[in-house]
Amino acid sequence: MAETIKETLYINGTAVTSTNTKKVYNPARSKESVGEIALGSEEDVNYAVEAADLAWEQWRKTSAADRAKVLEQVANYIHENSNELAQMLVLEHGKTVQESLGDLLGAANVLRYYSTLVDEVDKEEVVENKQGKMVLTHQSMGVVSIIVPWNYPIILGYLMLAPALLAGNTVVIKPATYCPLTLTKILKHMASLLPKGVLNIISGSGSTVGEAMIKHPTVRKVSFTGSTEVGVSVIKNSASTIKNLSLELGGNDAAIVLKDKDIDDHLIEEMLKGVFTACGQICYNIKRIYVQKGNYQTFVDRFIAAANLIKVGNGLNPNTTMGPLNNKPQFDSVTTLLNEIKETDAMVNIVGEFIEETAFDDGYYVMPTVVTNVKQEDPIVQKEQFGPIIPIIPFDTEEEAIQMANDTEFGLGNSVWTNDVEHGFEVARKLQSGSVFVNIHRAGASGPNMPFGGFKQSGIGRGHGVEALKEQMELQAVIQRTDM
Ligand code: NAP
Ligand code: MG
Repeated sequence: MAETIKETLYINGTAVTSTNTKKVYNPARSKESVGEIALGSEEDVNYAVEAADLAWEQWRKTSAADRAKVLEQVANYIHENSNELAQMLVLEHGKTVQESLGDLLGAANVLRYYSTLVDEVDKEEVVENKQGKMVLTHQSMGVVSIIVPWNYPIILGYLMLAPALLAGNTVVIKPATYCPLTLTKILKHMASLLPKGVLNIISGSGSTVGEAMIKHPTVRKVSFTGSTEVGVSVIKNSASTIKNLSLELGGNDAAIVLKDKDIDDHLIEEMLKGVFTACGQICYNIKRIYVQKGNYQTFVDRFIAAANLIKVGNGLNPNTTMGPLNNKPQFDSVTTLLNEIKETDAMVNIVGEFIEETAFDDGYYVMPTVVTNVKQEDPIVQKEQFGPIIPIIPFDTEEEAIQMANDTEFGLGNSVWTNDVEHGFEVARKLQSGSVFVNIHRAGASGPNMPFGGFKQSGIGRGHGVEALKEQMELQAVIQRTDM
């Protein structure tokens, strides 16, 4: 069944084939192809941008209420087809059915949320005083290029796409080559509900299609979610045409457990979700745990015991609680880090149970790994691992923990774990990250209405919330002066 999935490009209301195609493989059986995706070219991007520019003339004049209706229709489509879509997503991504449903239903939730923000698009602010009259309005921007990563392609794609379309922009979107099939299927359904040219879908590599989408002079804005490294190239390639940018980039989130916190089942369960969901491949997964002395050994012992119950296997296996990594470069990067740690004095605790009958090496599997006796300057602490390896570090004072948490160029998320919630909010204000969670830190904790984004090199702007919608619109001031 899976082998028959073949996705095309979709430009100006029509499916477009390509002689250049790429097989998509199952990360749980890395030699097994699950489908094929057509790859676009620079010419395809040019054609799509022209079509989107033309379509913008009408789409910008369509009422925000009518634009919102399409978002709702797509939310319904995802809901109605979620089980079938989740199966497809597991095959191309590797994560479990539950995690795949989270990606899909999370996207439906995002679509519904933005469909309620019509008034924010239409809102005008009028200021009248002795200077005269000023009206502040929002206008759409034009053609927006949207570039999606592979880790949570459905929700992350829609976090950028829903506000862009609601704002009245038209779009060229690029799914990630490692996980394009499910997203493309949903996007094509959406495009069929829209006037031609409003939504154009072009898969292809970042270095060809992605760069062309960023450099095209007619494109007014780029919304990008992915690594900080590629974020740098997005900034460089958009500089000569001064594009508006929203960048959601990498993270190296710290969880700080204060000594007043009870180390109970709930805490351990939440921490496991924060670390190991999607095999560690979430931008705001917990990537470093700092535990105050007094609690440290109890925490480590209980965390390791609980992580040891993780069942590693094919995401389609109902007993699996953690799937493989998604792709070969990610697998290589995580195993390199693991090998580096093994060369140090760190204690490397490899835990969990592999439950597949196939060979471990058939998929991009990495077992849950808990690293202790590790130093702040070690690569596993400093780098974004994006895999199921977690360092746990003790600290004496709160100030020391805050200093270590902030000791990074990333600033996406952090969390504070304490019985004194008010104190948790106080500590949060000293942490340099776009999100700080108190007593939670996992996928889903950041709802569609919560502004989400990075300090420092974790990004520019905010996704989610009204903020993301505002970033898809130009603010216009119209003024009549009566005082001069
Ligand atoms: P990535 O390698 O940066 O790729 C992201 C997207 O950019 C893919 O579609 C990729 O295309 C494309 N791309 C690659 N090179 C490009 C270029 N030169 N110009 C334009 N586009 C280019 O990131 P990833 O490995 O997919 O995702 C993992 C990273 O994303 C992690 O660092 C994670 O923390 C971050 N992330 C951040 C957030 C957030 O909200 N802050 C959310 C999720 C993930 P191809 O791969 O198809 O070539
Ligand atoms: Mg990458």
